[in-house]
Amino acid sequence: MGVPRVDAVVAGAGVAGLAAALELQDAGCEVAVVDPSDRPGGVMRTDHVSGYVIERGPNTVQVGPTMLGFLRRRGLEEVVLRARPASRLRYIFRGGALVQVPMSPVALARTPLLRARGKLRLLLEPFVRRGPPEGESVAEFVGRRLGRDVVSGLVGPFLTGVYAGDEDQLGARAVFKKLVELEQRYGSIAGGALLGAFGARGPRGLRGSYSTEQGLGVFARSLADRLAEPPGLGSRVARIARDGARWRVEVSAPSGERSLDAARLVLATPAFAAAELLRGVDADAASALEEIVYAPIVGIAVGVDPADAATPIEGFGFLTARDEGLALLGCLFMSRLFPSRAPQGRELLQCMLAGMRHPDLIDEPDDALAKRVAADLERTLGLRGEVAPLAITRWPRAVPQPGRDHVGRIGWVRERLRDLPGLVLAGSYVDGVGVSDALASGVVAAQELVARDA
Ligand SMILES: Cc1cc2nc3c(=O)[nH]c(=O)nc-3n(C[C@H](O)[C@H](O)[C@H](O)COP(=O)(O)OP(=O)(O)OC[C@H]3O[C@@H](n4cnc5c(N)ncnc54)[C@H](O)[C@@H]3O)c2cc1C
Repeated sequence: MGVPRVDAVVAGAGVAGLAAALELQDAGCEVAVVDPSDRPGGVMRTDHVSGYVIERGPNTVQVGPTMLGFLRRRGLEEVVLRARPASRLRYIFRGGALVQVPMSPVALARTPLLRARGKLRLLLEPFVRRGPPEGESVAEFVGRRLGRDVVSGLVGPFLTGVYAGDEDQLGARAVFKKLVELEQRYGSIAGGALLGAFGARGPRGLRGSYSTEQGLGVFARSLADRLAEPPGLGSRVARIARDGARWRVEVSAPSGERSLDAARLVLATPAFAAAELLRGVDADAASALEEIVYAPIVGIAVGVDPADAATPIEGFGFLTARDEGLALLGCLFMSRLFPSRAPQGRELLQCMLAGMRHPDLIDEPDDALAKRVAADLERTLGLRGEVAPLAITRWPRAVPQPGRDHVGRIGWVRERLRDLPGLVLAGSYVDGVGVSDALASGVVAAQELVARDA
């Protein structure tokens, strides 16, 4: 019997792989999706524990324009649910207190998150000289344009929330792409934003934060259910090799190994797994991907009685400033965003630890982590009483950290792989780390493959 032929293999059933597979399917391809996990969605996983709906990975999604188009094309817009409006209230723990994140110029002028000097420094932004287009860290870029106060008071905590990352290591061009473009084009972020406001507008996504009533695992499932062929779970792509203009894909499963012969191949795995698969195909591209660092994350879900907290549990949640010395990077008030996530009279707090700030915490035993989270919730929310975690989730390599040279690195790898027939990369390390970016990377990867055939 010959090797089964398919139009496309997608390695990885995270949101990027699922999106790529659906796009390819809609373009008329027969697609085989392969993933070692026990369910689709990659890090997007939801569990039900003691009446709570607990996210193991991402909690909310900002729906960007590509994701919105993808949902609309499939009638999936109804599946996603917007977080309650109170979620606009966000806090940073700084100076021993929860301080509301300023969302308007007036609020910025009043916020205690910046010193008076730091606020005055903001006014100088239009007069700061243009910097290099590549190679700066976020701290260097923002510090140069807006001052150090903005780095420590606002940007640092924000990057902790999105990347579990470090502002000195993350690259400005990858993380603040639009701001760097404004600087390069107009010489100023403020001036460029004002001028841009009168210019042509591109497609927009949805405002606010989204999930589904019962979590993002349901979203992953609704994508997987739309595949003609269900994802091959419990099996992984072990090796790939070129076979003329096609690919020989070796898939290993507990039941044994099998081969697939595919015209197109999407590697929608984390960068380190893509590097492993590319090693025998292009060793230099593999090394470039292997060097991409991932931050570890420990997620701790806690169910509490709101009466035990001195501070009202209201809004989206809070992030912590580095100089507060907490193990806690941030805490989301999940049941305030989506009330069905906790039993009546209780609140679900989704806490995040480790990251690039405290990477070693990934190895701490559960009881030590539980003590840390209890101590930090007492300091931040004034939470008394027993804090017993509902679930502790460890992701040793959770979120990619796009460094100073990331945009150049990815561009270089993609250029090299363009010479190979029918192979593309997708995933959260390609062009943005959020769920919406990862999904968009899958859409773009599939569209690129289809365009190559045209
Ligand atoms: C704890 C945590 C919290 C987060 N919070 C948020 C948030 O609130 N909002 C947000 O927008 N984003 C958040 N993110 C980021 C977001 O979840 C991810 O960027 C996105 O889900 C990644 O999707 P992906 O498909 O690129 O990768 P993944 O979800 O990692 O999927 C990759 C898949 O590839 C599979 N794979 C690996 N090797 C192989 C192989 N050899 N063969 C076949 N398959 C393979 C893996 O099993 C996995 O299923 C969070 C991430 C984590 C970890």
